[in-house]
Amino acid sequence: MVAQDEQDLVQRQFEELQRSCTATAGILLPGEEVVSYYPPEMEARAGEFGLAGTNVDGTRWQVGDCDVRFPLHSISKVFTYALALEDHGLDAVLDRVGVEPSGDPFNSITFDEARNRPFNPMINAGALVAANLVRGGSKEERAQRLLERDRLFTGNPGLQIDARVLEEQLVANDRNLGLSYLMRSLGMLHGDIDDNLYVYLAACSIAVTAPELSAMGATLANGGVNPLTGERALPREHLRTVVSVMSMCGMYDAAGEWAHDVGIPAKSGVSGGIMGVLPRWFGLGVYSPGLDRHGNSVRGVAVCRELSRRFGLHVFADPSESRFGRVAQPE
Ligand code: GLN
Repeated sequence: MVAQDEQDLVQRQFEELQRSCTATAGILLPGEEVVSYYPPEMEARAGEFGLAGTNVDGTRWQVGDCDVRFPLHSISKVFTYALALEDHGLDAVLDRVGVEPSGDPFNSITFDEARNRPFNPMINAGALVAANLVRGGSKEERAQRLLERDRLFTGNPGLQIDARVLEEQLVANDRNLGLSYLMRSLGMLHGDIDDNLYVYLAACSIAVTAPELSAMGATLANGGVNPLTGERALPREHLRTVVSVMSMCGMYDAAGEWAHDVGIPAKSGVSGGIMGVLPRWFGLGVYSPGLDRHGNSVRGVAVCRELSRRFGLHVFADPSESRFGRVAQPE
């Protein structure tokens, strides 16, 4: 276990960071604005802010709104892709969806035309194909398999799909529908479009807390085994594919800037969640609904940037920069 004084120090840093990032003023880069454009129900929750960490040895930290549940939205793409890999193996999945960052927004209608496939599974087009690859006899069974998988990743056997969020998405989903029809006409997607959309959106509607999100990250940091339960959630052979694709494509069209500034493999969703994965070290779960123009949580990005800077968490930083537990105490 992490030593008690180190644990306390990290907890105090989390508290101080959560406080300092609560005022959004001064967080945005010049010219950026806070947009909470989607999903509309998150607008009313814009003040919520939770921050949690789970170490691979099971030590946990949490501060702020860590009891509230929010839908995974795009963070689910990581786990849908993981199950597609498990169901079909890497080669078959690569035939259907690539591993190249597209540099385009999450809902863009662009494809790798040379290979007739979406660029990567972290944007909607690629996630719809990944959902298409999840096995099951019915849409409900496929959604249930994704839910079961997320229960392993979070360590919460009671995890649920938020039925209201799913319903709302199913009725306001023209763009994903259009994208699906186009992909089916191009031979990228097969079978029933509505069923497939149901599976994809059911995964987006799985409701987690910030600590659960950090446990999901910690499971990926811990070689695919949930450090809280000891259960394997992801076969070892797919770990590096999932985490490397996530780290290149997880922050949409801000992925390059994120990799450079923050340097923590991460995936965000439009409900304001960000899951961070520090391989062999710990997982982060941040939740705050105000979004920047890329669809990433404004406070989430700010808090991760500051955590990375203070603790020297950038995965490509010189090891001497790592100051985990050795950062001076906040005033
Ligand atoms: N459910 C959302 C959609 O498909 C997820 C998008 C996101 O989080 N970026 O549009």
